[in-house]
Formats: sequence, C-alpha cells, structure tokens
Amino acid sequence: NKQVIFKDYINGYATGSDMVVTSDATIRLELPKNDDSLILTKNIYLSCDPYMRNRMNRTMEGNYIDSFTPGSPIVGYGVSRVLESSHPKFKKGDLIWGLVGWEEYSLIKDTRTFIKIQVTDVPLSCYTGILGMTGLTAYVGFHEICSPKKGETVFVSSASGAVGQIVGQLAKLFGCYVVGSAGSKAKVDLLKNKFGFDDAFNYKEEQDLNAALKRYFPNGIDMYFDNVGGKMLDEVLRNMRVHGRIAACGMISQYNLDKPQGNYNLLMLIMKRIRMEGFLVFDYYHSYPKFLEMILPLIHEGKITYVEDIVIGLENAPAALIGLFNGTNVGKQVVAITNE
Ligand code: NDP
Repeated sequence: NKQVIFKDYINGYATGSDMVVTSDATIRLELPKNDDSLILTKNIYLSCDPYMRNRMNRTMEGNYIDSFTPGSPIVGYGVSRVLESSHPKFKKGDLIWGLVGWEEYSLIKDTRTFIKIQVTDVPLSCYTGILGMTGLTAYVGFHEICSPKKGETVFVSSASGAVGQIVGQLAKLFGCYVVGSAGSKAKVDLLKNKFGFDDAFNYKEEQDLNAALKRYFPNGIDMYFDNVGGKMLDEVLRNMRVHGRIAACGMISQYNLDKPQGNYNLLMLIMKRIRMEGFLVFDYYHSYPKFLEMILPLIHEGKITYVEDIVIGLENAPAALIGLFNGTNVGKQVVAITNE
C-alpha cells in the first residue's frame, strides 16, 4: 500500500521533504471480523486543496479541522471504490467521495464525510472538483453568501482555479458582469475564452491593483468572491460599491505566512455598508443535493465547463499540493493514483 506520509509540522511553505512516499506492506485487503462499520476502499483520485496547508500547522487557529498527524498519511478529499464493507450504508462496488488517506487503499472507520456517487456519466475526477467539495463551495459562496442580483458586478480572485472557474460561470449564468484575476497569461486567456468571463487580468503584471480594479469596474464592485485575501482584498475594499457583499472563501496569500498581513481597509465596511461573510463549505453539505440538481443539467447541456490539472501517481502528489502555492496548477489540481 503506497502512502504519502506527513513528516512533521511546518512553518512557511511546504517542501517535498515534508511529505514522504513510502510503502506499507502491513495492510490486509480484508475487513477485520469484529467491527460492523468499516469500509475498505481502493482510492482512485485525490484532490489537492489549499486548506490542506493549514493542517500542516501544529495548531489550527479557529479549530475548524484537526492538524495532520505526523507519521500518518496526508488526508484529503478523494474518489474511491468500496472493496469491502461491513457498514450498512455502503456496499462492495460503490463509488464514493469523501476524506481518505493519500494512499492506494484505506481502511475507513469514520465514514461521515462520504457521499455515494450516483451519476457516473461524467468523468469520476469531477467529484474532486466541479461535482465535489470545490464545486459546492462555489455554489454556496456565490448563491447563498453573495446574495446576487441580476446585472450586478462580480470580481473573483484566483479565478481560474477549482473554485474560481465555477464561481465565474455561475455568475455569468445568473446574469452578472464578471471579471477575474489570475497569475499568468495562459490563465487569463482561459478565463476569457473558455469560462466566458467578461474580462480578466494578470494581477502579477499590475503595479497598482487599485488602478487595475478601477479600469474594470469604473462604477465599483457589487460582489467580491475572495480566494486570496492580502493585498488584493485591501484594494478591493476601496473599490466596493455601497451595500456590496464579500464572500470570504479563502485567503491563500496568507496560508504560508507566520504573521498574516494586516492593513485591510476595513473602515470601508462601515463607510460603504458592505457585508463581508466568511463561510466553510463543511457547514453546507445539506445543500449538496440541491447543488447537484442544478449543476448536472448544466454540465450535460454544455452550459458549464471545467478544467482539471491531473498528475498521475502518488509519488507526484506532494509536488502537486505544493504547486497550489506558486500557481503551478491550471484548474482543479487532481492526483490520479494510477493511470488505468
Ligand atoms: P486553486 O485551484 O485556485 O489553486 C490555488 C491558486 O491560488 C494557485 O493556482 C494560484 O493561482 C493562487 N495563489 C497561490 N498563491 C497565491 C498568492 N500568494 N496570492 C494570490 N494567489 C495565489 O485553489 P481552490 O480553487 O481549490 O481554492 C481557492 C480558495 O478557496 C483557497 O483560498 C481555498 O482555501 C478556498 N476554499 C475555501 C473553502 C471554504 O469552505 N471556505 C473550500 C474550498 C476552497 P494564480 O496563478 O492565479 O496566482
């Protein structure tokens, strides 16, 4: 059983040596007899997600999820097949998505995060992205947190990523004017030509983010879907319209800093009566069936699309996770455990 082991807590950026690929010969591909709530899975796809960096800290401020355990496999969302089950909810052959170890096979005791995959006429990797946790995040963040109105203006940061690409398309389908920022020309081209954003810019090429935002939003921003925090959030706050809404989804620019950047123009929240709301997708699993009902027809009718960046092999998983923090990934970062 090949595994990616979390070595020890870190400060700053993760490196390849913080995760070690090993082989554990002790796993038996059968269930222990004395437990009636276990499943044994063969893991197929693994999802690389920015929040996983936070689990590498010794302590988690906010405590919304535990830190990883040194010496144990990294844990993340994945798509798996049930090989054996003594759990009443799952049977042999079921396809599921939920939290699994970064390993070929997992013996799972806590099945609370698992959802059975019912629709299989789409690539299974979709359940790490558009049909999984990140798709639900985009849906909840835009439709439930932003309270959108047709014709309003939307700005999305890290817009070509797993969450951002879906937010932008949902906002376009809803009838909004949508601009995204991303970190390379190729990503900006994707936003404009594949995902149908009205406009997009490369934030790394802008000397003055305030001026860039004024160029695309001369009358201001009604909704900001924040994936990055930091300097961008600071400048967006100056460009929000009165009664604007900010969905605080993520702040990837802060995850590797020992001391998070401050200096936000928070006074603008008051001056412009802006509502800024942080949310965690974990609180919105009840919206998943409603989300699927909305998104599956859009996929089938070709009205929404997605881009995945799939690397093959567990040995390439650490680099794929690290790559999220320097923008290596183009679209949803996935690891296929084998190339079958
Ligand atoms: P992405 O697919 O967007 O991948 C990460 C991207 O972030 C990189 O490709 C890079 O894109 C950008 N990035 C990396 N470092 C920086 C930086 N210092 N400043 C600005 N941009 C940076 O990831 P996801 O779509 O999976 O996640 C997007 C955000 O949503 C993250 O903040 C994540 O934590 C958050 N999230 C929150 C959830 C919730 O429940 N609230 C659930 C899921 C995700 P580029 O080349 O454009 O810079």
